[in-house]
Amino acid sequence: MFEIFSESFQSIANKIRFNDDEKSLARAIDELKKVLLKNDVYHKAVKELLQKIELQTKAQGIGKQNFLQALKDSLQALLDTKGNQGFVFASRPPTSILMVGLQGSGKTTTTAKLAYYLKNKNKKVLLIPCDLQRMAAVEQLRQLAQQIEVDFFESSAQSPQQVAQEALIFAQDKHYDVLLFDTAGRLAIDEHLMQELQEVKTIIQPFETFYVADSLSGQEGVRNAEIFHQKIKIDGVILSKFDSDSKGGIALSIAYQLGLPLRFIGSGEKVADLDVFLPDRIISRLMGAGDIATLAEKTSSVFSEKETKAITKKIKKGQFNFEDFLAQIENVKKLGNLGNLVGMIPGLGNMAGALKNVDLDNSQEIKSIKSMVNSMTKKERENPDLLNGSRRKRIAQGAGLDIADVNRIIKQFDNASKMAKKLSSKGGMQNLMGMMQQMKGKFPR
Ligand code: GDP
Repeated sequence: MFEIFSESFQSIANKIRFNDDEKSLARAIDELKKVLLKNDVYHKAVKELLQKIELQTKAQGIGKQNFLQALKDSLQALLDTKGNQGFVFASRPPTSILMVGLQGSGKTTTTAKLAYYLKNKNKKVLLIPCDLQRMAAVEQLRQLAQQIEVDFFESSAQSPQQVAQEALIFAQDKHYDVLLFDTAGRLAIDEHLMQELQEVKTIIQPFETFYVADSLSGQEGVRNAEIFHQKIKIDGVILSKFDSDSKGGIALSIAYQLGLPLRFIGSGEKVADLDVFLPDRIISRLMGAGDIATLAEKTSSVFSEKETKAITKKIKKGQFNFEDFLAQIENVKKLGNLGNLVGMIPGLGNMAGALKNVDLDNSQEIKSIKSMVNSMTKKERENPDLLNGSRRKRIAQGAGLDIADVNRIIKQFDNASKMAKKLSSKGGMQNLMGMMQQMKGKFPR
């Protein structure tokens, strides 16, 4: 959705060619109205936004820059709701979080994503399945817990209330930082569910309750969130499926209509596809200015400083090998959807769409590279220079690839390590870092 907004905002602002041209401002505002309404932003929020933008632009002098600034400020005011941002820990651990939402909203997946996010911050997390309504839900959470290597609470209790109670007793003295309770959803709001959730909530006394909303659910999603909020009080909203063809207006609508803070956004089916929602960072993305801060945070949780130094040293010495190459691919996979990552780099927002569907797990090229490396001896992996004609032939046979494929992959690898060496040379790295620093300065936080 960010691409749709940022492209439109820029082209709308371009309509204001001359300073003090009231007519062109009116045209730009009219165009903006269409874009916002088309993207499902609540009509009252649109009206309020446009009024503010018009007033501010006129007060500061009609011009393209002032118009963009007014747009940015108004969006900021809209998204800056009272309440916590990102993940907040209770002053005394464990921090218990109650996850609620309708069935199919992505609640179970999001619970696992949150656990993975916290695990990468070195927190000890326990996942607790209180969704006994949908039989597969417990198994789904168990499998996700296994996949991300986070503790899972096993229980034979027959009611969510009992599971919650047992889990609290189990967690005593186990030094968990966070307890995440997944709960049952329904296809639509129903009284029985609300009653159950209220009871579970009373038992857990959670530090916060998160509502998971499907970005595709539009105005109905906002209404459902409102009912959940009335019945069980929500502290924050997590928007799931932001990668889908969501119109995205729901993000602005929830903030405006419910005054609830958006805390995270989920943007893919993988566990790594969850980002903190901080209004200024999101606005930076909406305005097409990228989000270097989130990108830096995401990469630092996956690439430790020590590891990065060791790899840089190897690259510099020309010792980067196939083992390292595979390890790096695994690391990049942990970062989640590539389109999202690229969208965070200033100026590259519109490339995000093209990369959105690149799937490192299922890419044929990566599969070929993996099977090729698996057919190499340890020595060959560590020293790509050994790969002469006969070795290449053997590897191709072992991996079920054509010799031409093997030659091509090795050539690509050679080029990549030469490029990396160049970048890691004194000037190269400094240039890159300098560029990043400048961007950071330009778009703080
Ligand atoms: P629950 O019934 O609310 O627990 O929903 P699930 O967690 O089972 O999710 C329903 C479906 O949505 C699953 O197929 C998930 O893979 C998918 N899903 C969840 N979050 C996201 C997301 O951020 N992006 C995409 N594309 N799919 C998601």
